[in-house]
Amino acid sequence: MFDSHKTQSVIRRVAIVGSGLAGLVTATRLRAAGVEVTLFEKSRGPGGRMAAKRLPEPAGGSADIGAQYFTIRNPEFRQFLDQYAGPSAYGEWNGVFRYQDSEQGWQDMRSAQRYVGIPRMSAITRAISRDLDVRSGIRIARLKRDSDGLWQLRDTDGKVYERFDAVVLTPPPAQTVELLSGSGLAELAGDLNIRVSHMQACWTVVLHFPEGAGATFQALMPDSRRLHWIANNSSKPGRDDEGEWWVLHADPDWSDAHTDTAPEQVREELLEEFRACSGITALHRESLVHRWLYARPRARTTPGHLWFRDSRLAIAGDWLEGGRVEGAYNSASGLVGRLESEGLIPTSR
Ligand SMILES: Cc1cc2nc3c(=O)[nH]c(=O)nc-3n(C[C@H](O)[C@H](O)[C@H](O)COP(=O)(O)OP(=O)(O)OC[C@H]3O[C@@H](n4cnc5c(N)ncnc54)[C@H](O)[C@@H]3O)c2cc1C
Repeated sequence: MFDSHKTQSVIRRVAIVGSGLAGLVTATRLRAAGVEVTLFEKSRGPGGRMAAKRLPEPAGGSADIGAQYFTIRNPEFRQFLDQYAGPSAYGEWNGVFRYQDSEQGWQDMRSAQRYVGIPRMSAITRAISRDLDVRSGIRIARLKRDSDGLWQLRDTDGKVYERFDAVVLTPPPAQTVELLSGSGLAELAGDLNIRVSHMQACWTVVLHFPEGAGATFQALMPDSRRLHWIANNSSKPGRDDEGEWWVLHADPDWSDAHTDTAPEQVREELLEEFRACSGITALHRESLVHRWLYARPRARTTPGHLWFRDSRLAIAGDWLEGGRVEGAYNSASGLVGRLESEGLIPTSR
């Protein structure tokens, strides 16, 4: 379909859709190899699901509403963070973390090093994106190849961005499938539909306790039909909050079953469950509710990344590498390693 010697030349210019961690890692690595990279992000800024929300005054501050903490099992991930986010942009979150076993009651969670962004989760992605060309507030709606075999991207306002040697898609699977289907790439979309697991929703409630909540733990995973996670966000390192901000994440199945429930009702139901599970009786003053439609994959599929060599189209993201922050890093890093090993870009490390 395309002129093969045009499509076999080295990749010099790449468009990346999405500037969550996977998009940012791909961009950073490609740029280090001398590739010109442009990222397109539909939200106001980079970060994706490593998100923090500014909180209402007078309490102010921010709370991590998406990823709560992350692991660093891959030493290359640590090196990457130190080099591109800086060692002060993240740190270890220590404390008392418990889960509720249906038979044995409350147990300590497995001891592990849990890392967070400082002073908020999005500090990491902000720092990594500093030297990258991130075009925020642009939702890509369509991809097309021109007569030279180069990629064109069209946004939802009809603006066209041209002449990219390759495209990397990093949105969650439903959004990636939608983009491919809307671009006449139904075959790829169909292939993806078979491979991907459903991403589950997550209702999030944030509560402010001006006098603190009086808890003896930092985070809980209750044995509950409604609640998956309860955490004192103010106990993370580098937060300087007045009082305490707490984050509640609803159970994934409960969230899926309540995607259309009114936020006020969600808040009431989760609040009631929070009190019952945590034993916290302190009264909160401010609160906010956020709905994630695509939070985490139901199953852990691990092809790593997808690379359609003939079309010069790649797909990366946490959902291709087991979910989670470190999975997003590994997926992106694996993709760039693949392009290097196929001789399509110079070796960056
Ligand atoms: C509630 C919640 C709790 C979580 N808890 C944890 C945890 O404790 N530990 C952990 O490791 N992980 C956790 N995760 C998962 C973690 O946040 C993700 O694994 C990781 O951030 C995914 O990064 P990514 O780059 O693959 O995807 P994303 O961060 O989703 O990035 C994709 C980006 O693409 C953009 N985009 C989508 N469509 C378009 C388009 N058409 N045009 C332009 N841009 C587009 C999106 O706006 C987004 O910025 C949690 C996630 C959620 C939501």
